[in-house]
This record gives sequence, C-alpha cells and structure tokens, in this order.
Amino acid sequence: MDVTRLRGVGVSPGIAMGEAVLSERIIFTLRKDYIPPHRVEEEIQRLRAALVKTREDLVELKARIREKIGEEHTFIFDAHLMMLDDPSLAPDLEKLIREENVRTESALSEVHARYLKIFDAIGDEYFKQRKSDVADVLTKIYRNLASQGEEPAVDTRNKILVAHDLLPSEAALRFSQGNILAVALDMGGQTSHAAILARSMNIPTVVGLHNITQIIKGRDVLIVDGTDGEVIINPPLTVQKEFLSKREKYEAYRKELKKVAKWKSVTLDDVRFTPMANIELPEEISHALSYGAEGIGLFRSEFIYLQRSTLPTEEDHYQVYARLAKEAHPYPVYIRTIDIGGEKNLPQLSIEQEPNPALGLRAIRFSLRHRELFRIQLRAILRASVSRNVRILIPMITEVEEIGEVKRMFEEVKRELQDKKIKFDPNIPLGIMIEVPAAAALADVLVKEVDYFSIGTNDLIQYYLAVDRSNEFVSYLYKPLHPSVLRLIKFVIEAAAKEGKDVAVCGEMAADPLSAMVLLGFGLRKFSMNPIFIPRIKKALRSVEYRSVRRVVNQALSLRTAQEVEEHIIEKLLVKYPDAFLMMGSS
Ligand code: PEP
Ligand code: MG
Repeated sequence: MDVTRLRGVGVSPGIAMGEAVLSERIIFTLRKDYIPPHRVEEEIQRLRAALVKTREDLVELKARIREKIGEEHTFIFDAHLMMLDDPSLAPDLEKLIREENVRTESALSEVHARYLKIFDAIGDEYFKQRKSDVADVLTKIYRNLASQGEEPAVDTRNKILVAHDLLPSEAALRFSQGNILAVALDMGGQTSHAAILARSMNIPTVVGLHNITQIIKGRDVLIVDGTDGEVIINPPLTVQKEFLSKREKYEAYRKELKKVAKWKSVTLDDVRFTPMANIELPEEISHALSYGAEGIGLFRSEFIYLQRSTLPTEEDHYQVYARLAKEAHPYPVYIRTIDIGGEKNLPQLSIEQEPNPALGLRAIRFSLRHRELFRIQLRAILRASVSRNVRILIPMITEVEEIGEVKRMFEEVKRELQDKKIKFDPNIPLGIMIEVPAAAALADVLVKEVDYFSIGTNDLIQYYLAVDRSNEFVSYLYKPLHPSVLRLIKFVIEAAAKEGKDVAVCGEMAADPLSAMVLLGFGLRKFSMNPIFIPRIKKALRSVEYRSVRRVVNQALSLRTAQEVEEHIIEKLLVKYPDAFLMMGSS
C-alpha cells in the first residue's frame, strides 16, 4: 500500500492511529429541477413539512446532546434553530419554488449558494466558518424532504472519521456517540465549531487537508497527529512504532499540563503573575478554567454577531455577558467592544467596501460611527456588571479624543440606566487596547485617561512593522522579538506601572514561552492567551527567577536583530533554567 503524508492544520492536539471511515455528504448542485406549475402547491407543502420535521429534529438533538455531553455544547442547536426561524428563510424558499417552478431541492441549493456568497465576501476566518452552520441546517431540511432522517448511517466508533467538512451538529452527534479516535477534514479552520468541540472533547483533529476524502479508500489505516497537523495514510511498521512512542510522550505531556494548571502562578523568586484566557464563545469558559485561566483577559464580543443572521438585541448581548460574568466569577472578564468593520464585515449591515480595510473604519472607529449599536452593547455590558467582575476594553484606540468620546457615551448610558432604576456596577473600570503604534508611543499620556491597558500585540506588531498579520508572503518579517517592538512594548508597560495601573498582553505573543519571559522581564504580570497555551506559559514562568530574566532582557534591548535577541536569551537562561524551555514549540 502507498504511504502518503498530508499536511493540514492541527486544531485539536493529540495523536491517534486507526482505520478510516468516510462520511458521506449531500452536495448542493446548482442544476435546476423543474416542476409543472400545477405541482407548485404540493411542493410548498413538501417544503413546509420538511421545515417542521427539521425543527423537531433539532429540538430532539439538542436534548440528546445536553444529556450526553452537557449543556455547554447545545448552543450549536440554538444557533441552528435561529437560522431555521430566520424570517427570510422559508419565504425565500417558497418564492423560489413559485417563481422558478423548481423542486425544493433546487431552491435549497440556490439559497445555499446565496449564503456562501455573502459569507465568502467576509474576510474574517470565523465568519467564513459559519458557512458550515448554514450548510448544516439546509442539509437537514434536504434530508427531511426525502424522509431519510438526519442521521448518517456510518459507524464511526473506534475509527478515524474522514470527511469533507464536519457540520456542527454532525460533529456534536458523532462525538457524543463516543470512541471516535480522531478526525481528518478537507476543510475547516481553528474556529470552526467542530474544532472547538474536538478540543474540548480531546479528539485529535487535523483540518484543511484539501483532498483527503479523495485520497483515502475504505479501510486505509491513518495516523492523525493533531499536534503537528499531519496525517499519514497507510504508515509502514517503522512509522507505526514511531507513533507509539510519540503517543506515549504526548500522554505524559498532557498529564503534566493538567498538573501545571493547578499550580500557583509564581516565579521561582515568588513574583506573582496572572494567566488569563482569550475566548470567542462563552462555551469556552469551563475549558479555559480547566487549563488554569485566572480570568478572561479578552472576550472578542464581535463573535456574538456570528451566531445569528439578524442584529443581536440588547438582551442577546446581555445573556452572553451575564453568563460570562457568572461562570468566570470571582475572576474578572474583560469584554472587548466589537472589533468589526473593514474586512470583518457584518452580514447584517450593508457596510461600504473600503480600499484599505486594516486602516479603515474598524473597531472603535466603527462603534463611534454606528452609535446605536455601540449604545446597545454598552447597556448590556453595564447590566451584566452587577456581579462586579466585568471590565470593558476598547479596541484600536488611536488618540485621546476617542477615549473622551467613549467616556461621554458611557456616562450617558449609565444615566439612562439610573433613570430607569436598572442596576449596574457604578465603578466598572474602563481600559483600552494598545494596538495602534501611535497609542503605544503616547502611552504615558493615555494611561492617565483609563483604568488599564491591554496590549494587542497581534495588531501592534502588524502596524508597527507594516506587516499584514495574515499575509504569508511577508510573514517572515512578522517578528515579536524585533528590538523596536520590544522597546515599544517596554515603554507601554512602564508607562502603566508608573501610574500604578494594570497592563496585560493579550496578543499571541503572550502564548510564546520565550516572548512571555521577555514580557515578564519588562514587568508584565498579566498574560492573556488561547487557553490551550496557558499551562506551557505557566510552566515556563514558574521555572525562572524574575530578577535574572529582567537583567537579561534589558541587555537584549540594545541588540540589533530579533535573532540576536532570541540567541541572547537562550544563551543566558537555558543552562540556568532548562525547565522553562522544555515546552517550547509544543501545544
Ligand atoms: C491583538 O490585536 O493582539 C488582539 C488580541 O486582538 P485581535 O487578535 O482580536 O485583533
Ligand atoms: Mg487586535
């Protein structure tokens, strides 16, 4: 048998070996199936019956998932029920059947294509992932037309599931049946529901394999390495042996991580630090806490818009924030107001295309332009603040005037709530993200206007080094350890410290052990990151003495290149603190 190695994206770590099973899918084609006009009413009845059945299925499936894997994973079905109840879906389908004299299947395909077009026009990865939710709901309706039922027939127990794309409800259903060894998909990304679910259920998963469904045949043996993002088809005996030792190492590493999560966050010389989590969905909180997060350092609230096709109401926002505050309590939750606009378009609003979205009407600029949306969000955050652990973060601040404007609106909304006798935390703190270089250079001034800073290094580095953070061609220039980046970050951290204000880093830089050491040396104490990286950062920082790290990183400031910085730190600290470097590069 041929051995093939495929590279993809590892979205859920771990490694597994087993037989592959291919999941079939319904393909929406744009071929039109016409019906004679006298059959139109019959067709409409067929559609309506399928919609009713789909609703019943979703409600039942939701109950089943709640019972089998817990309440926190039922949100997928709420999102699907909402799509099904979208006031335009049924009328659109009926209109197509009536006007074009087509079968319901063709109308579904047409609606599917329209949604894909809308979602493809949105630059942001997470928005794109919502395509699978749409396909999921439409597939269910499709299956119910033929009375096939929604449950696919293949048995995936003790097998590796290979599919083109795993629809969210299918993922929930299959994973809840238990014993899936691993998952390998043609499509998908880090933020798909299937990836989130796989991570929280510890199922090794590799996505973005392009054409694995066309390469494998039934009964092929696969190794799926969700840590390295690799799939090996029909591995020879030598590779199978390697797999065994790799799995053993991985298991030991996981045990270690779980232990680390419970340890105290202090350096060898007793300096306290706080690891926190960046999350996009409230469902991720329990997962984050289990990895040792001591708070939610960044809640990317724009994701609330993605669960629906209409604009979220104040109540929709409030439900999410209240849940976050309750589940994270007594730890703090930093809710970032929406970072939307430019390339992160809102399907619910028709926003003009901009020639240079990254430098356009994004984040707070967008919120100050669409003030009614911003007010709704502020009101909901304030209402949720009664638990006293809610904090606000304003993204992409560039100048003092914007802070003044935000504060004015914030006070207005507070007064409105007071007038209506609605309770909130009158001392709710307000902070800003430092992600525009101009704001970083003015940190000593801005700090006097706010309660804290959170440095968004993802954007700060992109703008400071003029390197698009998602452009592969220039990614070689994207260097968090570039001496000029380090000088700027140090300046921000020290500006906050001088005023006795809090400062955190919530960009990916905080999740890299070497960079985290540098940040610690500059005086940073709050590190917010994707939860899965918390244990390794905790382990790294617990293995060093702040005093010597401070000395070494300050010396690095006068070096010329990122490489020299890296070599200097490794050379000075590796022998003294080998444990800090153990988990480098692992996830
Ligand atoms: C950042 O820019 O570093 C950040 C945390 O925000 P986002 O990644 O959501 O832009
Ligand atoms: Mg940012």
